[in-house]
Amino acid sequence: MVMHELSTASSIFEVVLEVASRHGAKKIIEVNIDVGELTLLNPDQLSMAFKALSEGTIAEGANLNVNVVKAKARCNRCSEEWYVNLSGVSSAISHLMFMTCPACDARAFLKQGCPKCGETNFDFISGNELIIKSIKIEK
Ligand SMILES: [Zn+2]
Repeated sequence: MVMHELSTASSIFEVVLEVASRHGAKKIIEVNIDVGELTLLNPDQLSMAFKALSEGTIAEGANLNVNVVKAKARCNRCSEEWYVNLSGVSSAISHLMFMTCPACDARAFLKQGCPKCGETNFDFISGNELIIKSIKIEK
């Protein structure tokens, strides 16, 4: 397991436990999160790390459901919006990217321009998410 997923899972885990205990949870059944493609987090590894962390806690046996949000860009010249293809991004580079600014570095690395006008000045409007959407608990 790589550090990236492990440290992310542990941050998620801490928030989930805190929220659940604030609501008087006896058991955590399910956790739903949105993870943007630009975070380059591996959903399976996230779930595995979460599972390992939850052993012996009220979250033991809970499912971590990861909803992957596609990376979408918007052109700063013509306002065209498109889904960015991240398939060429190697994991070594991806981890470097995440440690700095994923959006800026992805943009520099991808060297893709707007599919409509070729402009390379664009912003990512989705794909950076790391959001806990909902937590299902038992009281
Ligand atoms: Zn454009």
